[in-house]
Amino acid sequence: MDISVNIIPVPLKMTSAFIIRDKGTILVDSGYPGSEDTILEKLHEIGGSPEDIRLIVLTHGHADHAGSAAALREKTGAKVAVHRLDADKVREGNQGKLHPAGFTGRILGLFFGTKKASSYPAFEPDILIDESLELEEYGVRGRVIHTPGHSPGCVSVLLISGDAIAGDLIFPSIPSEKPSLPFWVDDPAEARRSIKKLIDITPGKIYIAHGKPFSSTEVKKSFSSLF
Ligand SMILES: [Zn+2]
Ligand SMILES: [Zn+2]
Repeated sequence: MDISVNIIPVPLKMTSAFIIRDKGTILVDSGYPGSEDTILEKLHEIGGSPEDIRLIVLTHGHADHAGSAAALREKTGAKVAVHRLDADKVREGNQGKLHPAGFTGRILGLFFGTKKASSYPAFEPDILIDESLELEEYGVRGRVIHTPGHSPGCVSVLLISGDAIAGDLIFPSIPSEKPSLPFWVDDPAEARRSIKKLIDITPGKIYIAHGKPFSSTEVKKSFSSLF
């Protein structure tokens, strides 16, 4: 059986979204407001069209992930799924307060935590995720699991290939670029538990929104002292 599933990163302003192509096509995250055309151009480039996207999974409700979801739903007809605990963020179109994990987060928070950078077009999500969401019915062999910590409603997408998309659960540290906790984290202990949960079931690559993908082994090594 062929277990490969295509993950196509879409580089956007300050972040990335991911087109996942198996039998069906889904999108993970949507970038800041105004990213919809870049995402649809990428889809076109790989031979797809807007109506191919049947589901948009938001890894959480921060503006750089949920910002173009309303516009993309309009252009694709896809359903938008978000975890129940981040649903109020998208309903309000506001990511809420960022909680810096350390110095880098405090400094960068001056730019990414401003009122303007925090808000985006609000919308009512179509699907509320609890513990998990199966993706088979959208043509993708995989599932979404709850991996809270960075925000209460963070989710990760696991694919049959053994790869995962973890959104903001893991950041590359500055300057070593080694896997580390996010610069902003609502609950650090919970984030560490989620990272452990993820690497225990992900043998392959872990794609993140703000940097290059890591291997599961690399992440395990970086966090071994914390588990
Ligand atoms: Zn975030
Ligand atoms: Zn982010």
